[in-house]
Amino acid sequence: MQDKGNTNEAKFPLGEENMRPDMEAFFLRCEEQLRANSNPHTNGQCQIWCGCTNRRYGQFRYRDPRKPPDSRHKTRGAHRMALLVAYRTLDVSPTLQASHLCNRPLCINPAHLVFERRTINDQRQVCFKAKTCTGHVDRGTRQPNCRVDISAAPMRHH
Ligand SMILES: [Zn+2]
Ligand SMILES: [Zn+2]
Repeated sequence: MQDKGNTNEAKFPLGEENMRPDMEAFFLRCEEQLRANSNPHTNGQCQIWCGCTNRRYGQFRYRDPRKPPDSRHKTRGAHRMALLVAYRTLDVSPTLQASHLCNRPLCINPAHLVFERRTINDQRQVCFKAKTCTGHVDRGTRQPNCRVDISAAPMRHH
């Protein structure tokens, strides 16, 4: 006698597939929201947030698609959100800051941002004051250099 009933069992309980949030669609919406609320800086490299701010950083409002539809909106730094969206994740440890390499708090260009611990982020202020960067190592991992070339260069109008 063959054992019946195993081969046709549904792999997932009914409905689970439909409840899985479409994270890529969410991140694409975020990218659109980031684009719609920012403008290229006159230096041609930074992308400056022009939406709501907390007087220092852009404020990005969103609803986590993994939470129930009636859950509250969340607010995150627009620069942090830009980096999270670039990495396609919402799960980066809060002990890691989204640190600006260009020293422009409103910049949301992911290429100008890096996740790192506060101590390294704080070191960068020294670089920007000195207008030179000698490099940063975080627990053996080399972090990108500060973009003092962007932050120090005054805008020239021709
Ligand atoms: Zn920038
Ligand atoms: Zn530096």
